[in-house]
Amino acid sequence: MNMITNHLPTAELQALDAAHHMHPFTDNGELAARGARVMTQAKGVWLTDSDGNKIIDGMAGLWCVNIGYGRDELADVAARQIKELCYYNTFFMTTHVPAIALAAKIAELAPGDLNHVFFAGSGSEANDTNIRLVRRYWDIKGHPEKRVFISRKNGYHGSTMGGGSLGGMTYIHAHGGLIDGIVHIGQPHWYAEGGDMTPEAFGLMRAQELEAKILELGVENVAAFIAEPVQGAGGVIIAPSTYWPEIQRIVDKYGILLIADEVITGFGRTGNWFGSETFNIRPHIMTIAKGLSSGYMPIGGSIVCDEIAHTFEGSGDFNHGYTYSGHPVAAAVALENLRIIQEEGIVEHVRNVAHPYLAEQWHSLADHPMVGETKLVGLMGSLALTPNKETRAKFKSEAGKVGFRTRERCFANNLVMRHVGDRMIISPPLVITTDEIDVLMARARKSLDESYAGLKADGMFVAA
Ligand SMILES: *Cc1c(COP(=O)(O)O)cnc(C)c1O
Repeated sequence: MNMITNHLPTAELQALDAAHHMHPFTDNGELAARGARVMTQAKGVWLTDSDGNKIIDGMAGLWCVNIGYGRDELADVAARQIKELCYYNTFFMTTHVPAIALAAKIAELAPGDLNHVFFAGSGSEANDTNIRLVRRYWDIKGHPEKRVFISRKNGYHGSTMGGGSLGGMTYIHAHGGLIDGIVHIGQPHWYAEGGDMTPEAFGLMRAQELEAKILELGVENVAAFIAEPVQGAGGVIIAPSTYWPEIQRIVDKYGILLIADEVITGFGRTGNWFGSETFNIRPHIMTIAKGLSSGYMPIGGSIVCDEIAHTFEGSGDFNHGYTYSGHPVAAAVALENLRIIQEEGIVEHVRNVAHPYLAEQWHSLADHPMVGETKLVGLMGSLALTPNKETRAKFKSEAGKVGFRTRERCFANNLVMRHVGDRMIISPPLVITTDEIDVLMARARKSLDESYAGLKADGMFVAA
């Protein structure tokens, strides 16, 4: 196989990039000044940049490259599908083999009676679908006033108007506003917000905010509650053990729909096929994307339970869809990705090998002078950075500054580990081996040591 290795020098690529490419979630002025890191190749868990650095990817791209980079099988399937049927739509009573096969496969893998898939091009689009699907569902049921979605502060559901509004990130709402009929309750983030409560008592309290909100709005107005089984972009926040059982009780009691946004937690990330299985949640709808194709192709969707799907049958057209709903090349690649996950036992690898091995080392970081909390479920983990472990204190510096400095040390040590505020997060490819975990952890510890030394030297290891 020939690799595409000929490219302009890094500085020229960076200049062109800054001149013409508007980046997501980026200040393009800052980007122009610093120069973007240019990735050129990847294989397994390893990235190569335009200067030839070998970087271990502790984030699986953006939480998506679950089977690792550079699998020939997916390239071959894409090429074959492009030659056979590169595109056809799924509107107007037409379909094609890849969409059929992928929908059937997802229905087989998804728990309970989640047996129907509405395809989208991404997680954001799938959540936009969910808004329209759920409101239309209640219309058909004769409850058009049930329109309000309850979601959570610091949740992430994408960045379209619908997805961004469902999400609870105020810095996203600040750019473009919020669509109507969406309200946010508190998140189960004990470390930052639990005060003197035990995690268990706090988890229960935060779940009961859902009940209070339903009663405040009137159950006749509430359509659904949407949440990620584990908040990813919010900082890998794993709810206390009391949280999800109480949420499930409330959802059942009031008969509102539960949407599990499994865009990150789906397809093995938590050591089961779906995060809902890990946390014993019974959603009516699941949002999927990212790991569905391991990021090789853009594809997402909503997995819908029998009762909702059957309600739509015979009720006239559902006036919604995307040109690329069930795109044949994306669907074929996703199907091959799922075959690999299943046949190579990658979910079992996470559960029985990679998680236990990583957990031991990850939790050992609790002895580091600036780590106040270590969290890990499957292969998604977080560290809370703090100047005082006992009080879980925040840093005196602007929120996120210490996290940013720590991420810069990671990058310098050829490790991709992200920061969310002053939390460090990882979500490596699910195929990561124990040897690669050793490399990841050695670089993580070194980066934490350097960041800590730098903070001390700059007088920044100080509580607010
Ligand atoms: C990434 C993400 C999305 C949005 O998916 P896109 O493909 O970026 O539109 C939605 N929900 C969750 C939980 C995510 O992590």
